[in-house]
Amino acid sequence: AKLRGRNRNHHFSPDMADALYRKMTLRHHLTLALESQNFQLYYQPIVDLASHQLKGFEALIRWYDDELGQVSPGEFIPLAEETGQIVPLGHWILKTACQQLAAWHQKYQHRFTVSVNLSRAQLQTSLAPAIQALLEQYDIQPSQLALELTESTMLQEYDEAKQCLDALAGLGLELYLDDFGTGYSSLSQLQDLPISTVKLDQSFVQGEHKSSQAIIEATRAICEKLALKVVAEGVETIKQLQYLQQCNFDYCQGYYLGKPLPPVEIEANNFSLLNP
Ligand code: C2E
Ligand code: CA
Ligand code: CA
Ligand code: CA
Repeated sequence: AKLRGRNRNHHFSPDMADALYRKMTLRHHLTLALESQNFQLYYQPIVDLASHQLKGFEALIRWYDDELGQVSPGEFIPLAEETGQIVPLGHWILKTACQQLAAWHQKYQHRFTVSVNLSRAQLQTSLAPAIQALLEQYDIQPSQLALELTESTMLQEYDEAKQCLDALAGLGLELYLDDFGTGYSSLSQLQDLPISTVKLDQSFVQGEHKSSQAIIEATRAICEKLALKVVAEGVETIKQLQYLQQCNFDYCQGYYLGKPLPPVEIEANNFSLLNP
């Protein structure tokens, strides 16, 4: 009976069938969505804690499928990474963010900053020239576009990725290290790569770990020593905000300060003080 129980794991269970079916369906719909570019970018404010001013926005992709409904990027981005579709999708994301920056510049005479998430597969030699072309096409200053990378992005083929990141920094773009504290990057990478800003993962801000407070304070101290700016992610309460302020964090982002929203709602909520 024991043996049979163990063997059962090797068989195809209904759960596995469901998961596979979901994945196949998503793949099919994702291919169609890519053809019709049926995606949207939402924007979430990042706030400067010292001045209470808007630092910029993080661009976050949204996909609403007529049949599947809203599909979260946490589900479809890994799929697009598996198939390589993240490369054309990533280009659409960069282009759409640049178009938005140009539209806001024209409408508000203000040059905002947007940070865009990059996947590992996008770190190719062709990326820096492609981004440079977008900056020229939309009259965007390099300082207006930042790129977010996760730690795990950096593990494989480090030299190739480093070359690409050096080229991007050479254009004048800022690079943020995303989800800090959850990956495996060594602290030496922080100095080896042209990173300007660290984003501390939201799980620490929300106190999910035994040593969350110690990690928050240690991250702040390391960043100060290495002359890196630090953003706290996932700030949901005023208590969390006050604690981060006390710890001298540079920037905060989270539902308490603003949810990711489509451009029209961002304009209504965040730009009311700017002249149209
Ligand atoms: P991420 O880059 O770490 O993005 C932050 C995630 O936390 C977003 O989820 C955001 O909506 C959510 N968030 C922001 N503030 C709060 C808060 O106060 N509380 C909580 N609980 N959550 C908060 P989202 O938009 O579902 O994105 C999930 C992940 O998908 C992102 O994590 C990123 O890894 C990936 N992703 C999203 N958009 C893109 C994109 O355009 N390109 C790439 N390559 N990846 C993307
Ligand atoms: Ca991010
Ligand atoms: Ca993050
Ligand atoms: Ca994340």
